[in-house]
Amino acid sequence: MLDIPGFTGRVITPGDEVYDEARRVWNGAVDRHPGVIAQCTGAADVLAALRCAREAGLLVAVRGGGHNVAGTAVCDDGLVIDLSPMRALHVDPGRRTARVEGGALWGDVDQVTQGFGLATPGGIVSHTGVAGLTLGGGIGWLMRKHGLTADNLTAADVVTADGQLRRASDEDDPDLLWALRGGGGNYGVVTSFTFRLHPVGPQVLAGPVLWPMEDTADVLRHYRDVVAGSAPPELTTIVNLRKAPPLPAIPAELHKRPVCAVQACWAGDLDAGERALRALRSYGRPLLDLVAPRPYTAWQSMFNSAVPHGWHYYWKSTNLARLEDAAIDVLAEHSLRVASPRSYTLLFHLGGAIADIGEDDTAYAHRRAAHNLNINGVWQPGEPIGDQERAWTRDFFTAIEPHRSGAYVNFLGEEGADRVRQAYGERTYTRLRQLKARYDPENVFRFNQNIPPAA
Ligand SMILES: Cc1cc2nc3c(=O)[nH]c(=O)nc-3n(C[C@H](O)[C@H](O)[C@H](O)COP(=O)(O)OP(=O)(O)OC[C@H]3O[C@@H](n4cnc5c(N)ncnc54)[C@H](O)[C@@H]3O)c2cc1C
Repeated sequence: MLDIPGFTGRVITPGDEVYDEARRVWNGAVDRHPGVIAQCTGAADVLAALRCAREAGLLVAVRGGGHNVAGTAVCDDGLVIDLSPMRALHVDPGRRTARVEGGALWGDVDQVTQGFGLATPGGIVSHTGVAGLTLGGGIGWLMRKHGLTADNLTAADVVTADGQLRRASDEDDPDLLWALRGGGGNYGVVTSFTFRLHPVGPQVLAGPVLWPMEDTADVLRHYRDVVAGSAPPELTTIVNLRKAPPLPAIPAELHKRPVCAVQACWAGDLDAGERALRALRSYGRPLLDLVAPRPYTAWQSMFNSAVPHGWHYYWKSTNLARLEDAAIDVLAEHSLRVASPRSYTLLFHLGGAIADIGEDDTAYAHRRAAHNLNINGVWQPGEPIGDQERAWTRDFFTAIEPHRSGAYVNFLGEEGADRVRQAYGERTYTRLRQLKARYDPENVFRFNQNIPPAA
């Protein structure tokens, strides 16, 4: 067993009983074998683990919730700084802030903050990690009203590559805070995040409306013209094109039926939400309308079981500046070609408060994009359809090429440096490289969607 001087957490190495469990990430297609997994209990452990890795010349990976599709929470051979035991959080209801440890999941945050009638914008699946999602930007059901998760990040405690514990905030280190608001895991290990909270719920008006997938082109034109284009910021929608999953809320006769679902969440006055959603819900002949007042925490976990840990996932994603007719036709055509009942395509509805912030104000760029498209090939371990689902995903992505405009770093797989650059655009990327040279000149934190230091 490796000795990490000063380390108080658990050190796991190959051969340990829990090694296989500890190296596993959400995406079951990722199968890496780190030399050491250092499960940290606090910032002092992170400092000790980093020091040990640097002295031994080991590659470093950093694990928050372990959800990244590229599996960058674990590396081969090197040392994983694993924050999964660090999930505590503290809410200050008077100041409306929450301080959240670097290994927390969104379910942890939602449960505790809702105890005070508060929330900060998170992701749409509550078993996703707070850390990676926040550091890449963070899109979810509250973003159009309250901004990205990163827009609500007011401070962070960060262990930087030089072995210092720094405070990133507007007062203490605004450049570091700027970089953490979208620049990913490139600038250090965040041991705690401080978020701004907002009154939310406890009930939101939320649910999916399902139409037959054959109607996708019509539904999406109506959705664009009557719903998405003019929606108040309280309303966020996500289109989900897939075979209906066997969730308890969906009647058995619809399971596996190809559908065009528009998932909606209204976070505001419920009567106003009923009025705002009427035009969506009354269109055509929906197969099912599950829009209803429900607790925000229930909505946040409603789709958890559709994307469980351990299945194999292959994603391709892009932003769309606008939802043009020709792009809608691609969506309608390619979603119908899906074979696996687990694969799906999500079209996120951006804008609102995201676009109220300047392109240069945070490292998250592309604030004017209207949508993000995420095409997800999914299959179970051992199912011989991986090549087929990957090919479907790639063909779909190629077909949407003429409409692509930038990318979202948190949805990238192992796609190379150009795609990371696309996620930021030239100006932001250049500044991120300069800040990387300041905070991590030797690129210690390189096992990620990497931003190399400026020369
Ligand atoms: C089912 C599912 C649903 C999702 N839904 C959304 C969504 O609604 N909105 C959205 O924006 N994204 C969403 N995502 C994408 C998500 O933002 C990324 O996968 C993100 O990387 C997850 O963060 P994590 O901490 O779980 O990841 P991990 O795999 O643990 O980490 C990913 C990377 O983040 C960095 N990192 C992690 N922890 C730290 C830390 N404490 N300090 C510094 N760097 C760190 C490291 O570079 C690491 O390689 C979803 C992903 C999945 C799988």
